[in-house]
Amino acid sequence: MKHIQQLKKICTKCKKCPLHKHKTNCVFGEGNLNADIMLIGEAPGKKEDETGRPFQGKAGNILNNLLGIAGINREDIFITNAVKCRTPKNRAPYIEEIKCCQDYLRQQIEIIKPKIFLAMGLSAMEAITPNIRYKLSDIEGEILKTQYDIGMLVTYHPMNLIYRPNCTEKIINDFKRLKKIITG
Ligand code: URA
Repeated sequence: MKHIQQLKKICTKCKKCPLHKHKTNCVFGEGNLNADIMLIGEAPGKKEDETGRPFQGKAGNILNNLLGIAGINREDIFITNAVKCRTPKNRAPYIEEIKCCQDYLRQQIEIIKPKIFLAMGLSAMEAITPNIRYKLSDIEGEILKTQYDIGMLVTYHPMNLIYRPNCTEKIINDFKRLKKIITG
């Protein structure tokens, strides 16, 4: 098994899909390597691309607020994305791009061995279960089985809070649920 820094180096040089042409920085992911929670987003945005760090800027502020409400420390979790390079105009990544990036995510999972995934949005869910497409409203609050033998909670992407404020309560409840699962 590779060391996380080795994996990051390889990922940074990745040219498996055309997304590498648009990036400034690869956003590999960051956080606690002994994390119980692996949080998976969609794709890096502008700020993330500039800094090489996940969930900065607007989405980062929303995520930090959600973590704060649930009593989860950002330093205790590992945060990454379905794809590690920014997409043109921040569009959702295509399934082919998610599949190209999937091996990096798999290796991150093998190194970190989290107890649970929090997938934020459908792209994040597809990164873990690429052959199954659930409807978010059908699986609300459920811990889904995954190929990794690690449960997955799927919630809305934090940016939904801006465009669909009626999701707020659901997302907050999912973050609180996550905290409960980890603390027992
Ligand atoms: N920033 C990220 O790193 N991921 C997202 O999904 C959104 C913003």
